[in-house]
Amino acid sequence: ATPTALMVGTGRGAQLGILIKGPEVLESTRRVDTVLLDKTGTVTTGRMSLHEVYVAPGRAEEDVLRLAGALEHASEHPVARAIATGAQECVGGLPAPEHFENVPGRGVRGRVDGRDVAVGRFPGALPATLADAKNAAEAAGRTAVVVRLDGTAAGVLAVADTVKETSAGAVRELRALGLTPMLLTGDNRAVAEAVAREVGIGPADVIAEVLPEDKVAVVERLRNEGRTVAMVGDGVNDAAALATADLGLAMGTGTDAAIEASDLTLVRGDLRVAADAIRLARATLSTIK
Ligand code: ADP
Ligand code: MG
Repeated sequence: ATPTALMVGTGRGAQLGILIKGPEVLESTRRVDTVLLDKTGTVTTGRMSLHEVYVAPGRAEEDVLRLAGALEHASEHPVARAIATGAQECVGGLPAPEHFENVPGRGVRGRVDGRDVAVGRFPGALPATLADAKNAAEAAGRTAVVVRLDGTAAGVLAVADTVKETSAGAVRELRALGLTPMLLTGDNRAVAEAVAREVGIGPADVIAEVLPEDKVAVVERLRNEGRTVAMVGDGVNDAAALATADLGLAMGTGTDAAIEASDLTLVRGDLRVAADAIRLARATLSTIK
């Protein structure tokens, strides 16, 4: 490959809204056959809002919201921001937690008003009424998290995200290029499948309930199957997987960690540009041959 033609490729990339780390990236872009898409913030907007609040019999909705909101106020996660904002709107001011711990891929836990509070997906019993509410929310594509007070399930909070307008079209374009799009997420399987269905990805191509540290293992497994894997992500949690993939694509709207770990950045956070990048790489390299 002549350096001049590759430079033309990278210059054209900038016009399309693709930042390319180096000309050598175009070669791995051309070979890609599988595109792993992170769900939250990549396929969806990641701008979540609190949609429903369910409480166990005998619990006050206000209490559950105030304690959960207080803890989530200290976290940057999109689920946390939705809960903290929703709680503030419903109950007003939130107390400052006495203790706070972020557990990546699971949620937050700590102490608020002298009580042990956990919000997220932590192990523990769930009474039938809350389990039913959680299942119904998840089947509708919403992320549902459990609020535990002093170890007992007190409520379920359902958070709604929206699929980006451009995502279904992007999935179609990737397929038209002969690639296999797959959805990768830490979220619950029912939620993941509902989002996948909306963008045209079947359940067999959904990899759900993956802890942040296991995303790398998923990329490695697919590579061991002989695939050449592109990963598209936005979060801090995605950085290691982006670096492990044959090609890492970061959403320009995402975190610095994701951008630094990737080979390509999609400046506007529009997934259709991932298809543009692959088309560009193929075109650039075929003119060089
Ligand atoms: P994704 O892969 O979709 O970006 P994460 O790995 O960050 O998701 O989180 C996976 C799941 O862990 C979330 O869907 C949610 O159920 C739970 N979770 C993570 N962080 C929080 C939080 N701050 N509060 C509540 N739940 C959380
Ligand atoms: Mg994400």
